[in-house]
Amino acid sequence: MIPFKVNLENEVIAITGAGGVLMGAFAKALAECGASVGVIDLSPENCEKTTNDILKDGGKAVSAPCNCLKKEEIIAAKEKIEKTFGPVTMLINGAGGNSPKCTTDNEISSEAKEGMKSFFDLDEAGFVFDLNILTAVLCTQVFGEGMKDRGYGNIINISSMNAFRPLTKIPAYSSAKAGVSNLTQWLSVHFASAGIRVNGIAPGFFSTKQNAALLWNADGTPTARTAKILAHTPMGRFGETEDLIGTLLWLADSKASGFVTGVVVPVDGGFAAYSGV
Ligand code: NAD
Repeated sequence: MIPFKVNLENEVIAITGAGGVLMGAFAKALAECGASVGVIDLSPENCEKTTNDILKDGGKAVSAPCNCLKKEEIIAAKEKIEKTFGPVTMLINGAGGNSPKCTTDNEISSEAKEGMKSFFDLDEAGFVFDLNILTAVLCTQVFGEGMKDRGYGNIINISSMNAFRPLTKIPAYSSAKAGVSNLTQWLSVHFASAGIRVNGIAPGFFSTKQNAALLWNADGTPTARTAKILAHTPMGRFGETEDLIGTLLWLADSKASGFVTGVVVPVDGGFAAYSGV
C-alpha cells in the first residue's frame, strides 16, 4: 500500500520502534521498495512480527531486538544487522512516545480541581526525554560512525507537530519532541560535510494506542480533546499511517531528496499552520 515506489535496493536500513504501529508500517514500506531492513524494538515479539510480515511478502528483514537506551545492546543489534546485510546506510530513529505519568488532567492551571493530576503532581519518571532524545543520540552514535567513515548516510528522526508549538496536558512529550527537532538540525549541520543527511518527520494526530486514552472515551465515543483537534485541523480528520509513507520514501531516496537536510516535515493536515482564527 505504498503511494509510489523508489529504488532502495542498495540501502540497509535500521529502524527503531519497528515493533510499533507507525514504524512497523515504515519498515514494511521500505522493504517493499527493496531495502534490507534491520527491525529494532524493545519487544522481541513485536520485532519478530514485523520481520515475519516483511519476509512473508518476499522482502528482506532481520529482527534485532534491543533497548535503544543501552549502548552495548544497540551495538549488538548493529552487528547482527550488518552480519546479515552489510553496512547500515540509513537509520530511522522511531522509538519514542509519551508516558501517562506525565499527562495532566487540566489544560491550564486555573482549571485544577481537587483530585485532578496537575503539573505539580507529575512524576519525574514520566519525563520521556531519554525515550525520545537519548535513544536517537545513542543510535546515531552507534550507526552514524560507519556512515561517516564511508561518507554516505541518511538519518530520519521522528518528531511530532507538538514540537513546533506545545500541546496542553503533555509537557514532557512536547518538550522531548522539540528536543528531537532541535537535535535533527544540530546533527544535519554536524554531518553535512560527511555526506550524511539528517531530517525529521513530524506526524500530526494519528489515532494509535499511544494517544488512545486522550482521544477516545472508554465507550468508544470521541473525547472533548478529539473535537478540539479536528476543529483545529484544516483537513478535518486524523491522519492515517499511509499519509506518512510518501514523505518517508521521498526522504529515504537520495536521488529525490539528496540536497535536503535539517528539515522536519510536518504531516498534519495543516494543524501547525492554523492559528485557530
Ligand atoms: P508505538 O507505541 O506503537 O511504537 C513505539 C515503539 O517503540 C514500541 O514498539 C516500543 O516497544 C518501542 N520502544 C519503546 N522504548 C524503546 C526502547 N528503549 N528501545 C527500543 N524500542 C523501544 O508508537 P507509534 O505511534 O508507532 O509511534 C512511533 C513514533 O512516532 C514515536 O516516536 C512517536 O512518538 C511518534 N509519533 C507518533 C504519533 C502518533 O499519533 N501515534 C504522532 C507523532 C509522533
